[in-house]
Amino acid sequence: MSQIDNEKITAESLQVAKERNVWQAIRRGLSCKCPRCNIGKTYRKYLKVADECNHCGQEFHHHRADDFPPYIVITIVGHIVLSAATSLQIIYGPPMWVHMALWLPLILILSLSMLPPVKAALVGLQWAHYMHGFDTDDHSPKWDEPNL
Ligand SMILES: [Zn+2]
Repeated sequence: MSQIDNEKITAESLQVAKERNVWQAIRRGLSCKCPRCNIGKTYRKYLKVADECNHCGQEFHHHRADDFPPYIVITIVGHIVLSAATSLQIIYGPPMWVHMALWLPLILILSLSMLPPVKAALVGLQWAHYMHGFDTDDHSPKWDEPNL
């Protein structure tokens, strides 16, 4: 084996070792666990992502979930509630107060319970793709470096 082949194998090996399992990170996020160790917690409060994992020290403070978790939750809850409300109306035709009594609390409960796992899954997705500072080999210039 020539020296060039050895370099190829080494580069490929490094590439494989560097890959992160995206679906595993999302699954770990859905259970609000650290995407790296699956032991530490993603949150320190309800919807307040911890600065770092309390078990392995993986930093989370640079995640950028922003408004995407509510969009996903609105889409999921909307599909569930709209299909159920439409089905109920077509089959039984109840008065409007029944709809209000059923769907408003359900919307609130579903939305508030789905937001933390969805947000943690998105943090896991960002971690798996080395997005927003999750890349430890960040070569971008730092703000405090002199601009030459
Ligand atoms: Zn961890």
